Amino acid sequence: MDKKLLIVGNWKMHLSVHQSSLLVHRLGERIAHHRDVEVVIAPSMLALQPLSVEIDRRRFRLAAQDAFYKDEGPCTGEVSFAMLGDLVHYAIVGHSWRRLNAGDTLDVVRDKVQAAIRNGIAPIICIGETKQERDAGEAKQVIHDQLTTALMNLTSKDIENVVLTYEPVWAISTADGIIAKPHDAESMISYMRSQVQELYGERAAKNMRVLYGGSVNEHDVRSYLELPEVDGVLVGAASLNYHQFAEIVRVAHQLQTERK
Ligand code: PEP
Repeated sequence: MDKKLLIVGNWKMHLSVHQSSLLVHRLGERIAHHRDVEVVIAPSMLALQPLSVEIDRRRFRLAAQDAFYKDEGPCTGEVSFAMLGDLVHYAIVGHSWRRLNAGDTLDVVRDKVQAAIRNGIAPIICIGETKQERDAGEAKQVIHDQLTTALMNLTSKDIENVVLTYEPVWAISTADGIIAKPHDAESMISYMRSQVQELYGERAAKNMRVLYGGSVNEHDVRSYLELPEVDGVLVGAASLNYHQFAEIVRVAHQLQTERK
């Protein structure tokens, strides 16, 4: 596989602007420029602007954690994808926290994906089932519904810029250590690719970058990254720790080197 591995750090609602600058500085000291690994950081909306001038763009790219689906208007308190166009390469869309707590319904996620594409930003679309849905045997149906609505009305050209993430909701922010086994992740990601294939054909499904988005750390990340279906990881808590995040990037680079 000659796709770059994509490692995305979602800082969620953590760190002040000053702390964000400090973390990026620490990461800059530890993460080298690798041709085979793309490192993306998703800080808070406030920190995007200052970080966009501070980061070494050969080593890091920025992502927004979300944005609003209209380009402009009376939408008080919102930031549009149009406003972010110069700052970020990517935007996370449909993170499970937002689907569950901030009104990101299937249709809202679809509109956000389209707004991202319209403004030249690659959406990293999170898709995944809750524990209740999994226990009820509905996981595939949920993934099918989230995936098909999110990709609705996109052209084959648009699809080239889309990144999908399998984010099993039951395996994120897990204080009790519940994780999706690599085999679980692989079979769901394979299912997601088969859906993309049905909609956009074999080439699109093969080229699509699909990430694993459950909790990972520097010790277990290799077991996900080495799966042939997995093109990277979306990292939450471990991306706030510069030792752990730098180590995750190092593991990704080592794996790519071994594959050559
Ligand atoms: C996430 O929110 O997608 C995630 C993976 O978070 P954490 O690593 O903190 O579980």
